[in-house]
Amino acid sequence: MSSYNFCAGPAMLPADVMKQAQQEFIDWQGQGCSVMEISHRSAAFIELAAQAEQDLRELMTIPDDYAVLFCHGGGRGQFSAIPQNLSQSGQAADYLVSGAWSKSAVDEAKKYVDVNIAATIGFTDEEWKAPEQNTWSLSENAAYFHYCPNETVDGIKMPYIPQNIKAPLVADLSSMILSEPVDVEKFGLIYAGAQKNIGPSGLSVVIVRRDLLGNARANTPSIMDYQLLDKHDSMFNTPPTYAWYLAGLVFKWLKEQGGVEKMHQLNQQKAQLLYQTIDQSDFYNNRVPVEYRSLMNVPFQLADSSLDSAFLQQAEQQGLLALKGHRMVGGMRASIYNAMPLSGVQALTDFMQDFVRRMG
Ligand code: PMP
Repeated sequence: MSSYNFCAGPAMLPADVMKQAQQEFIDWQGQGCSVMEISHRSAAFIELAAQAEQDLRELMTIPDDYAVLFCHGGGRGQFSAIPQNLSQSGQAADYLVSGAWSKSAVDEAKKYVDVNIAATIGFTDEEWKAPEQNTWSLSENAAYFHYCPNETVDGIKMPYIPQNIKAPLVADLSSMILSEPVDVEKFGLIYAGAQKNIGPSGLSVVIVRRDLLGNARANTPSIMDYQLLDKHDSMFNTPPTYAWYLAGLVFKWLKEQGGVEKMHQLNQQKAQLLYQTIDQSDFYNNRVPVEYRSLMNVPFQLADSSLDSAFLQQAEQQGLLALKGHRMVGGMRASIYNAMPLSGVQALTDFMQDFVRRMG
């Protein structure tokens, strides 16, 4: 029986990538040791690192005037690196809140910058609210505008890129990077924790327009200073080398699959199948309005929550893993990132329909 891992992150990686990593684990490219055991200053590693960056640039069509940084500290690390690099003390920054992760970004940013909540999207007092952009409250001289286009916990995806924002747009793409084309040029900075669509946790990728470099506050930790990282090709200190290597394998795999456009088609197909199964039955429920539904993270509730544990237990027996919803929202959640094959979603929807027949 095959098993499918629906974890929101760290999430499943492509099976082909895992097999290649296993084959190369002890002896990488005939070096006589693992890639984990070689110096980040060695020619072989420097080549690997540059190739990974090059492949990411191709996959996302990243223009030359953007730096690509491979950083420590995951997604949250960037919650504090961003205000330290892009704002000065006492300045305002605008934040859109559309779920749990943009809220956490706000909480961290408040330590450094005068946070203005431009608008809140989501369920407030059980009622869905998504104020039109022309009603948002923007600061006069915001250092930047931060938002999270795909909210991992809430399963909410912004259906549009905010328009006519004067301040540089900063986007947390942790749970959707490489899942669909993104017009990088619309953004001042894009960042993503790796553990969903890129590779192992700990690593984060930052794509930043070069004119925004060089403004870090004097007390910014060196390992978070974008300009310093850029100057040292993300090797100011020892980078997370194994995670970088695996990210490189994932980028190669994505190119072999036909790139981001192709993944997007497949991701739409997967999400459609799952949402259809949820919507077709009164037994399951997803409350997010169709236009705002995530393609990557699909939370759903059982109408009768007393069946939750039976659902999870039986799913696991069928090899359908990690479907328990986030502790903040309960219910179920299926995360269906790039590495999840269509067959995995089919197995899940078959199980869901069968569960209704037996238990409904
Ligand atoms: N942003 C988003 C959208 C996330 O989903 C997560 C993690 N699930 C984070 C930030 C935080 O990432 P990390 O745990 O790597 O700090």
